[in-house]
Amino acid sequence: MKDLKKGNQLRRSKKTMRKMIIGIVSITIMLFLFQKVISPYQNKYGLHPLLNKKITLMIKEANQKGVDLRIIEGHRSIVEQAYLYSKGRIIPGNIVTYALPGISFHNYGLAVDVCEFKNGKPIWNSENWDLIGSIGKKQDLIWGGNWKRIVDKPHFQLRIKDLY
Ligand SMILES: [Zn+2]
Repeated sequence: MKDLKKGNQLRRSKKTMRKMIIGIVSITIMLFLFQKVISPYQNKYGLHPLLNKKITLMIKEANQKGVDLRIIEGHRSIVEQAYLYSKGRIIPGNIVTYALPGISFHNYGLAVDVCEFKNGKPIWNSENWDLIGSIGKKQDLIWGGNWKRIVDKPHFQLRIKDLY
């Protein structure tokens, strides 16, 4: 009797597992197809045209203030996002993002990561981050440097309201 119960439970949990796996796989495929249709935009970093315009003006102003600001990353694929999300969770390393694949603004070309360069190398601990942040604010971009959970100084993204 007990064994029968156990067998039923096992079958049920296997069924649940199978459903979960089918769910995850189909969501991934849907996101992948959806993303392929709407992205990327036809510029170097696959950025939404408005973000492309704002970031160009930002770089120009930074240059005028003596900061060699450059784009590190723009559009990011769902697969790349899945890899980043798994960092610190299922593969070794620190947690670098809280955005699941399909959730990050990078996946839609609506976010960009920048950094100051010196001698051709990115200066991640630059003293000019506050200046760079204020230049981004002038373009009415959201700055990751103001975030609480993960402070993400290189990150700038569009506001949803700008898309409509
Ligand atoms: Zn970013």
